[in-house]
Amino acid sequence: MKNTLLHEINWVDAKKYLTKSNIVLLPVGSTEQHGPQNPLGTDHLIAKELAERASKKTNVLCLPVVPFGVSSHHRQFWGTIFIPSRVFSEYVKHVCLSLSYYGIKKVVIVNGHGGNTSALLDMAKELRKQDVFVTVFIWWKTAEMLLPNLFTIEERKHASAEETSMNLALHSHLVAMDKAPDVDTKEVSSFLKSMIKEVRGNALALPFDFADITKSGVSGKSSTATSDAGKKVLEITVDALVRHIEQLKEFDMKELEPKPHM
Ligand SMILES: [Zn+2]
Repeated sequence: MKNTLLHEINWVDAKKYLTKSNIVLLPVGSTEQHGPQNPLGTDHLIAKELAERASKKTNVLCLPVVPFGVSSHHRQFWGTIFIPSRVFSEYVKHVCLSLSYYGIKKVVIVNGHGGNTSALLDMAKELRKQDVFVTVFIWWKTAEMLLPNLFTIEERKHASAEETSMNLALHSHLVAMDKAPDVDTKEVSSFLKSMIKEVRGNALALPFDFADITKSGVSGKSSTATSDAGKKVLEITVDALVRHIEQLKEFDMKELEPKPHM
C-alpha cells in the first residue's frame, strides 16, 4: 500500500487494507508542559513520528495520533491538557473496539507519555478478554535498554536531554536551547527530600505533581541535548518497533488468547 496513514486514505482503500490484514498502529501521547525549551506537543509529536516511520517500513496501517493523555500531574504549568485516566483508557479502548469491528485483533500502541502507561496496560488487559491483543511500545524504555550509555539518569528524566534531543532531531525550530535548564530536583523538593531515596528506588509511590519538584517543568539535565543524540534514539527505536510489529504480525491469534480455567 502506497499510503499507510488511515486519515489520508478513503474508506474503499481502508476496506482493502482492513480485510486482508490483522494489525494496526496507534500512536498516543499528551499535550503537556515540557519545560521552557520544548513544545507542549512533545509527547504526541514523537509518538506520531515513530509510528508513522514504522508504518512506512512495515506497510502496517497507522491511525492518527491521540494528542491528549493522563497529565494532571503537570497541570500547574500553563497549557497542559489533562484527561482523567479512566476517560482516557475508555476513549482509547473504543478506538481499538472500532478496529475490532472491522476484524483487526492486534493493535500496537506507540506510547509517547509515561503518565499514560498504566491506563493503557489496564485497558489492554481488559481488551484481551474480548479477544483483542494490544501491546504498548514505550520508546524511552527501549532507548534506555539499547543505548544505555547515551544519556545519564539525569538526562533521561522529564523534558531533559533525551526528550529535548528527540525534538531537536525531529523539529528543531520548535526548541529553544538557550532556555534549556539543568534542574536538581533534590534542591527544589522539600517534602520529598527525606523520602527521595525510596521514591527513586520505587519503594515508595507518592501522589506528587511536577510543581512539587521543579519550577521550570524540567526534572534533570536538559542543556546537553543534541540533534545527533536524538537521531540515534530515533533510528534505534524505529528499528525496534519495526521488529516488534513484524513479530506480532506472525503470531497466531489462538496463541494470544487468554488461557482457560486451570
Ligand atoms: Zn514527555
